[in-house]
Amino acid sequence: MSTSAYAAFDATTPLKPHAIDRRATGPKDVAIEILFCGICHSDIHLARSEWFPGAYPMVPGHEIVGRVTAVGGEVKDFAVGQMVGVGCLVESCRKCSSCKEDLENYCTGGFTMTYGSPDAVSGGMTYGGYSTAITVDQDFVLSVPENLDPAGAAPLLCAGITTYSPLKHWKVGKGSKVGVVGLGGLGHMAVQLAAAMGAEVTVFSRSKGKAAEAKTLGAAHVVISTDEAQMAAAAGTLDFIIDTVSAKHDLNAYVNTLTRDGTLCMVGVSPEPLDTPLMGMVFGRKAIAGSLIGGIKETQEMLDFCGTHGITAKIETIPMSQVNEAWERVMKSDVKYRFVIDMASLKA
Ligand code: NAP
Ligand code: ZN
Ligand code: ZN
Repeated sequence: MSTSAYAAFDATTPLKPHAIDRRATGPKDVAIEILFCGICHSDIHLARSEWFPGAYPMVPGHEIVGRVTAVGGEVKDFAVGQMVGVGCLVESCRKCSSCKEDLENYCTGGFTMTYGSPDAVSGGMTYGGYSTAITVDQDFVLSVPENLDPAGAAPLLCAGITTYSPLKHWKVGKGSKVGVVGLGGLGHMAVQLAAAMGAEVTVFSRSKGKAAEAKTLGAAHVVISTDEAQMAAAAGTLDFIIDTVSAKHDLNAYVNTLTRDGTLCMVGVSPEPLDTPLMGMVFGRKAIAGSLIGGIKETQEMLDFCGTHGITAKIETIPMSQVNEAWERVMKSDVKYRFVIDMASLKA
């Protein structure tokens, strides 16, 4: 099926309209009309070949919400008209120990990313959510609670699960003291999710204009990270920190804010390497860890948690034609707090 999309054709020029082909609905497939797709900073890192050389043309987008338009004969859990989501993965090896433990995100046999991966089914490459439709195996489709606004729910499929998963893994709950570094797409989800889990949340932001609003998202404390006195006052106060910063920065400042045995979990992936703050880690048995999105089962758990708590992303909705300007603004940290593309603009 010919499908309208926007694609990057190289690492430097603006995204342009492009037509892609979506496969016919197979017996285990769910065909989806895409209603909304979030803009994740990873879309920019990947399309601009900031982490590794990209495969072009690249249709980005892995924060997808839409309605089911058709299901294959073997599909059990989805029906035409249902609101569904697709995140960063559309297939995995299904055999390795990670896949067997519902951790497809750590598949060692090779997972298929929603875009920019070789597509074992079609033989070409996968194309993402900056498009009007997608067809995905039922095991990688999520059910989106109908009480959530579909546009605000789209960023849950990446920003939501990427912050929910480490909060759960490091057992954040009532009384935990959690730091969130960077109040962007991931950061503002981390604040809402950690607060809903019962944590006392401290936001570290360079942006004074965002800091004022952090408390409305659930933060108890806001530290302007460029203010040395405020950073010093936060020393030794936090059990666990999620660092969502998309660029090179000094980790030492944040390790200093951990208590003994605390963990700084990196989810932001700077294209440039970061220095290891050894002294701060050794004096206090502190850890620096990483975390990658989440498995499909946990993504459903996160969506259900958000449905129960009424959590969605705070978004700025744009038509597809404004995607290049939106990317420029993401790179300047000028978005509160996630751009979401209204795909009706591409169908018109
Ligand atoms: P984003 O909306 O651009 O947010 C990043 C935030 O980091 C900004 O809002 C800004 O917050 C802060 N920041 C940016 N540049 C900075 C700098 N030079 N120094 C200090 N702080 C800076 O991006 P996002 O979509 O949330 O993604 C964040 C990162 O996570 C990206 O690297 C992305 O690729 C990565 N990511 C990882 C996973 C995973 O599975 N691990 C999943 C999705 C995304 P303030 O304005 O508040 O300072
Ligand atoms: Zn993402
Ligand atoms: Zn696997």
